Amino acid sequence: MLEGWLRLKVLLIIGDGMADRPLKELGWKTPLEAARKPSMNHMASVGICGIMDPIAPGIPPGSDTATLALLGYDAFEVYSGRGAFEALGSGIAVMEGDVCFRCNFASVDENHVILDRRAGRIADSDASKLAESLKKVKLSDSSVKFLFANTVQHRAVLVLRGSKLSRAVSDSDPGITGEKVLEVKPLEDNSEARHTAKILNELMEKFHKVLKEHPINKERVARGLPPANAILVRGAGILPKIRPLSEIYSVEAVCVAATSLIRGVCKAAGMQLLTIKSATGTPQTDYIAKAKAAVQALKENDLVLLHVKAPDVASHDGNVRQKVEVIEKIDRMLSYILNKVDLGETYVALTADHTTSCVTGNHEGDPVPVAITGPYVRSDDVEEFGERACAKGGLGRLRGKDLMPILMNFIGKVKKFGA
Ligand SMILES: [Zn+2]
Repeated sequence: MLEGWLRLKVLLIIGDGMADRPLKELGWKTPLEAARKPSMNHMASVGICGIMDPIAPGIPPGSDTATLALLGYDAFEVYSGRGAFEALGSGIAVMEGDVCFRCNFASVDENHVILDRRAGRIADSDASKLAESLKKVKLSDSSVKFLFANTVQHRAVLVLRGSKLSRAVSDSDPGITGEKVLEVKPLEDNSEARHTAKILNELMEKFHKVLKEHPINKERVARGLPPANAILVRGAGILPKIRPLSEIYSVEAVCVAATSLIRGVCKAAGMQLLTIKSATGTPQTDYIAKAKAAVQALKENDLVLLHVKAPDVASHDGNVRQKVEVIEKIDRMLSYILNKVDLGETYVALTADHTTSCVTGNHEGDPVPVAITGPYVRSDDVEEFGERACAKGGLGRLRGKDLMPILMNFIGKVKKFGA
């Protein structure tokens, strides 16, 4: 019996949006297929492979719902909006009754038409100074408090706290440039939803007033950068009710991720969050620092989730060359990991949370590849880690929520069903 004398553990590596569709400029290969990736291929050849529908076949997943699924949850059951995960991940202690939003610093013209939804992917230093000023804004209804915090680049979170609030409100973010910022509308016919929409519209207007006169933005314009003169809100959410992984599988679990959305999902699942200063959630992140932290964390934990945002960023920007490059960097990160961990007691799983197409710039409902190596796995004939190669593997075609039980079964953490 393995578990009698070894502490078996799992390292789950997620390349955000790493899967893609075949691309003409890559000779009809996907970025994963085109990249040089000896370590991923090694994993595929010694491990067991498959393809996975993160949510269900043909359903484009969000990073939040997909990560919930990869942690073993039924996202349809537990998902309560993006906002709360963003807020939890940014370090805000979200309370029962709070309504939380994901925000973007954006650039708009004098008619509130969006010129850049990410304000040129504004640097953290500029966003922090702008956020400091926004925190001083006063709402006309003093029974409602708000918390605002910038996270990475253009990303920020807003939490409304008070009685009679609702998450049933629309987004002000139309999701595309060239459109006007939308008025927030109640999505239910009740006083809570109307009240929440009114507060948000007031806040957005007051934020815009502060931002358009802000010295940081005047300086940005002088430097030829887009001003971050508006805040867009979306994804209203409340605190989710989630049974922690420690309770379901009796495991100690840790997350190594830079983006607040993923950190928030992991926090909601009861995982410990590690913070690595040089991990930025961008293609320039410190891959090896993340790998080192994950390897170290495996010494004290049963489950480590290592998340890399970079491939998704490149895909949303339609930057095929950058996507191939970051996949090659993830491969070098994987090489470091495979050399450092004890493969006699560690299962390493590699996958993506969803497909992000470099052509559409969107998350798509196509399945993603998955490979698992570790003691006694039934290795198959797959020799390459890719969307098409892995489809021939021994895991067949899975749902995202099946992955965690499969991994937990390997380390003896799933209870028998029946006698
Ligand atoms: Zn994602």
